[in-house]
Amino acid sequence: MKILGLSVLLVVSVSASDFDVPPAPAPEAPVWVAVDHADLAKAGLPAFPISGVPEITDGRTAVFKVRPDMLPVLSQFMHDNFKRCGGYFAHSTKAAAQASMRPTVVVAAGPYTLDQQAVVTPLVAAVTESGIRATIDKLAAFNNRYYQSETGVTASNWILARWSELAAKIPGASVELFAHASWKQPSVILTIPGSEFPDEIVVLGGHLDSISGWGNSGARAPGADDNASGIAVLTEAARVIAESGVRPKRTIQFMGYAAEEVGLRGSQEIAAKYSTGGKKVIGVIQFDMSNFKGTGAGIYFLTDFVDPTLSAFTAKLATQYSGVTAFTTKCGYACSDHASWTKKGFPSAMAFEATFDDSNKAIHSERDTLATSGGDASHSIPFAKLSVAFALELAKTAPAAVKVTSR
Ligand SMILES: [Zn+2]
Repeated sequence: MKILGLSVLLVVSVSASDFDVPPAPAPEAPVWVAVDHADLAKAGLPAFPISGVPEITDGRTAVFKVRPDMLPVLSQFMHDNFKRCGGYFAHSTKAAAQASMRPTVVVAAGPYTLDQQAVVTPLVAAVTESGIRATIDKLAAFNNRYYQSETGVTASNWILARWSELAAKIPGASVELFAHASWKQPSVILTIPGSEFPDEIVVLGGHLDSISGWGNSGARAPGADDNASGIAVLTEAARVIAESGVRPKRTIQFMGYAAEEVGLRGSQEIAAKYSTGGKKVIGVIQFDMSNFKGTGAGIYFLTDFVDPTLSAFTAKLATQYSGVTAFTTKCGYACSDHASWTKKGFPSAMAFEATFDDSNKAIHSERDTLATSGGDASHSIPFAKLSVAFALELAKTAPAAVKVTSR
């Protein structure tokens, strides 16, 4: 309890007022989980781990009220039967679950233009394998990054510290913890303010938590691919941009989401806050698993629960800048945090390591190590290049970029 109190105090003291947390239930309060009826109806599955009838249903989605300790059990079921990283949405209130079932007003995506080659081409060349690998090694060394564990909080604070080093090189940049009232692990957000259109935001994200088996807080869950690799891709892109002196016209935000593995909970709270606050999000990209060479070279863009216009444009960026070919694949309901943004009407895309069938089967176990992904971070290099390109082609760059002199 002392550790919980300490971590909450730390989170609140660091958070900016912009991210005040709305009232939410106590930690042991029930949770409402939304699952896809089509998943429940799939033939040949073992018994669904949640008993009873749904509290809400609209024919496409079924919402069940469950105890929070059922979330890792449900994650394991989704992983075993659908191989998804997520697979369901968990909401802290019934009202939030109900609201999520209403059709959302979709923000018109784009128009997107590819015209920053003079700035972006030299920057993607600055991406390094060793830079990506260093972050994977550091994050995989935590016993786990489970959303309810002490090391899960420490991992968030490590990302806060690392991203703060990078933010220190960018005038006006800042890093904040986004506290979540129902669990102790915070999300982390690095903001590079736009010089001309600061209210227009480009979001690059990936989840920072990890899980093993049935969600024991003490279980070993290195999560080297799922999803230290995604955080490493974001960190390397942020490093390259920070050290370049290039400044964006629109605001860029790098996000490490808490609690993805238990119902996309961190990203849902952030997307809900942005929706309620009327924030103008130009585009969102998700990096969740980038380092396992299951299919071979390439970036695989999901075609479901994403914005087709943004996804097509992002594939074009990959072709221009990543050095590998862009392919498509399909993942399913509530597959990762991009779905949280899509559900709130924001245009999102998701870049994945392989075809879904060929992706890393060692995730959610103690075997998700760097060795399982070939012992280096080479497969993630094109993803970090894409990340740099996505940030700067969507945000655009100020013409008279000033080189940082304070490093
Ligand atoms: Zn994941």
